[in-house]
Amino acid sequence: MKRVGAPEVPSRAALSAPEMTTKQAPQALKAPEVVVPPAAPRSSAAHRHGGPGAGAGLQRLEVQRVFGPAQPKTGESNIILVGAPASGKGTQAKLLESKYGLVQISTGDLLRKAKGSPLGDEAATYMSAGKLVPDALVMKLLEQRLHALGTPPKGFILDGFPRTLAQAQGLSALLQGLGAKIDRVIVLEVPAQTVIGRISGRRSCGDCGEVYHLENKPPKKSGCCDKCDGPLIQREGDTVEKVKVRLDAFEAQTAKVIPFFERRGIVSRVDADRDSAEVLSDVTQILEPAPGGAGLAPLAAGE
Ligand code: ADP
Repeated sequence: MKRVGAPEVPSRAALSAPEMTTKQAPQALKAPEVVVPPAAPRSSAAHRHGGPGAGAGLQRLEVQRVFGPAQPKTGESNIILVGAPASGKGTQAKLLESKYGLVQISTGDLLRKAKGSPLGDEAATYMSAGKLVPDALVMKLLEQRLHALGTPPKGFILDGFPRTLAQAQGLSALLQGLGAKIDRVIVLEVPAQTVIGRISGRRSCGDCGEVYHLENKPPKKSGCCDKCDGPLIQREGDTVEKVKVRLDAFEAQTAKVIPFFERRGIVSRVDADRDSAEVLSDVTQILEPAPGGAGLAPLAAGE
């Protein structure tokens, strides 16, 4: 597959003023005003979770309060990962989480965790059939999760959302209301054959969600998660027949989300039919600051 390299990264001002025609934009979706980041930075995910190095982060916070940050701050950008099932969205999201201190929001994980509640049980019937869960249901879960990040929500990676045009529009309106924006959309491109191969061997931890592959990334101990010793399970919907349904849903619905963001000039495409480290390297090039440009700063040691 042809790899499309990292495009020129638009300035933050350009990213925060999406181009929309009146026809495309219902009232709530009109080009949001430029959101100027506050002088004092929010802390990285490690700090938010009270992780190690929070003290160093606080010191830096004090310095930045006085002088202002020299460049875009770690953990403040909002990113969307788009891709077919098993394109590596979850894997890249976790890698980006630890590299930049961002927070992964996987709607698939949120839906699986909601199992046992009326909302989760309704979603499960769609998921096990390989179908998309109704928009209203997913929007509700996402909204709750974003609110939990504070206002405005910053420093998140959406993994598996939006998957329909209605979700993309709903997200736009939601973020606008919260004074936030999406900085970059990364499309992970993989051929259908790769998707089928990856999904049939995919296993994930029932406790922490870490993803394995029986051939490409086997766990050290068969059936057990390397990280938390939780049980490895095959997700419902991860069978070859269901994958075909999911690929169809991707082509018919999720692929339409890409032009929605392309019109705003924030889409980058990456060849994801490669080792996850190689994919991460490309993603990093897209996200990190070019000289004089905009982007993310990786976590410094101890952050
Ligand atoms: P994958 O990316 O491999 O499809 P996910 O864990 O992201 O795995 O999603 C699993 C299932 O959860 C999907 O097949 C779909 O049924 C449901 N799902 C996840 N996110 C959404 C969404 N944004 N809209 C509708 N359904 C979703």
